[in-house]
Amino acid sequence: MADKRDYYEVLGVSKDATESQIKNAYRKLAKKYHPDANSDDPKAEAKFKEASEAYAVLSDAEKRKQYDRFGHAAFDGAQGGGGFDFSNMGDIFSDIFGSGGFGGAAESFFGDMFGGGRRRSRSGGAGPQRGADVRVHTNITMEEAFTGTTKKVNVNLKEECESCKGTGAKKGTSPETCSKCGGSGQVVFTQQSFLGMMRSVGVCPDCNGSGKIIKEKCPDCHGNGFKSAVRKIEISIPPGIDHGQFVRLQGKGDPGVNGGERGDLLVGVSVSNNTEFERDGYDLFSEVYVDYPTAVLGGDVNVKTIDGEVIYTVKPGTVSGTRVRLRGKGMPTVRNKNTRGDLYIDIIIEIPSKLTDEQTKALEAYRATLTGKEKIKGKSKKKGIFK
Ligand SMILES: [Zn+2]
Ligand SMILES: [Zn+2]
Repeated sequence: MADKRDYYEVLGVSKDATESQIKNAYRKLAKKYHPDANSDDPKAEAKFKEASEAYAVLSDAEKRKQYDRFGHAAFDGAQGGGGFDFSNMGDIFSDIFGSGGFGGAAESFFGDMFGGGRRRSRSGGAGPQRGADVRVHTNITMEEAFTGTTKKVNVNLKEECESCKGTGAKKGTSPETCSKCGGSGQVVFTQQSFLGMMRSVGVCPDCNGSGKIIKEKCPDCHGNGFKSAVRKIEISIPPGIDHGQFVRLQGKGDPGVNGGERGDLLVGVSVSNNTEFERDGYDLFSEVYVDYPTAVLGGDVNVKTIDGEVIYTVKPGTVSGTRVRLRGKGMPTVRNKNTRGDLYIDIIIEIPSKLTDEQTKALEAYRATLTGKEKIKGKSKKKGIFK
């Protein structure tokens, strides 16, 4: 790429030209030198190419910055030298000329050009590739979610083939370096176009990007180098885990390729719940039934929590539906099992449907004492606001 003209000079704009000045300058040149309009002028093609290249760089903020810093050197050699990436030009041309603005030769040319660009972008190459994440699932109970637990799960994993030690080549042979790409996994495609030689880089068709050719495949793994195996893996599930959360075991997934790291093992956890507790985040919710005299007079009740019973002292005059918070009696947090959410209990006052004679007499005697304000039976009363 010797004696190339400065891109700003090519477009006839100053170094600090705005985007729209650059676009206008290019539009004029492209129309003037477009090959369709200059079939009798061989120099027009070269001018058109030069302007297109300048525009491809200066219209892209990132490339323009590189060009300003390094000049033409910024784009030489990156893909084996000399090639120029026009892959972003599709938008530019439809932007400037509108779709279908050019006919015939130009369009088919751009089609080729952009096709080359796209091939390059999906090239894989022979570099290290991380292995896939593997997902499995396990069920635990609410109590197990509280304490944390370990579960054995069956995991279908790729493992290195023992016969070939992962090379994929038959015992006694070894993979050979691909002669087409020299082991890089990538090849440069060169196309002759009216902009000159167009280069693009793509996956080597001979080795599919692995850089190696296996002449005789390992019969055990059919040349993959890996075999599928079901392994029982013990999973440690932390206290506090919630339904639908994942445990991630780093590096326990499928092995990588060409020295790439292993993927992760993701264990999805379902928490079945046949306890009396509802869970929301780290808080738990339950109901506690209290008899009428205790609600009126106050007294101790046993309250079941996720980790055993506690005694709660009901205040005298507690109405049904009162919500009480027992701090630190919820679920442990995953980060720190000593930090726990709260337990909220709704106090429900139990109305007995069957009474003994003695109880009936006692209640009748109580009712007989109600006079005036206390006696609310049959009267309408402002609606309570509990619940
Ligand atoms: Zn093998
Ligand atoms: Zn190859």
